[in-house]
Amino acid sequence: MTEVPRLAVSAARRAIALDTKGFMPEDEGDALFDAGIAAGRSCSGLPWVEVGSYCGRSTVWLGAAAEAGETTLFTIDHHRGSEETQPGWQWHDPTVMDPATGLMETLPFLRTTLWRAGLEETVIPIVGRSPVVARHWSTPLGLVFIDGGHGTEPARADYAGWTPHIAVGGSLVIHDVFPDPADGGRPPYEEIFKPALDSGRFSLVSATGSLRVLRRVD
Ligand code: MG
Repeated sequence: MTEVPRLAVSAARRAIALDTKGFMPEDEGDALFDAGIAAGRSCSGLPWVEVGSYCGRSTVWLGAAAEAGETTLFTIDHHRGSEETQPGWQWHDPTVMDPATGLMETLPFLRTTLWRAGLEETVIPIVGRSPVVARHWSTPLGLVFIDGGHGTEPARADYAGWTPHIAVGGSLVIHDVFPDPADGGRPPYEEIFKPALDSGRFSLVSATGSLRVLRRVD
């Protein structure tokens, strides 16, 4: 049997990812990269979507895999922050506030991250609300990574809006899946992970921390 050499994200890009604001632990970022490499092989040529760019931390891992697979990653975010990153919430970072609008503004951080990581030709930011973009989307996808709003409604909308576009053999990757309520919020588990498995159209490939990789089988 021929050994397929295992690809890893470069040391330089790993350092940039770890230096970028965000919520993706290193081991889960590596699992995300691995899922991208697999999707690049099983769904050659199909583009990918990331829902929830924030400042581009996870985008570096996924974009690096997209580059290796010679495909394009569309990363979608309205850049005004999700509910749990707003002022007064646990995950809020005051340095992403825009004084001109009084709102969160993470797009410049994403742009800087993509430039630093040399991924501007591979990753295309889309600025807008995920359900609106999904409504007009028609291209089959090799991979969808859902890490957007973590409330019930956003999670439900991302499941409904994006999973139908995943090609057979393609991957659905979900962040912040907590089967035990003691570990974190439920919507990614209840509204995305469980419905995907219950649909019979996806099977579980791997679990790393709160990251789940599923493959579309039907
Ligand atoms: Mg997350």
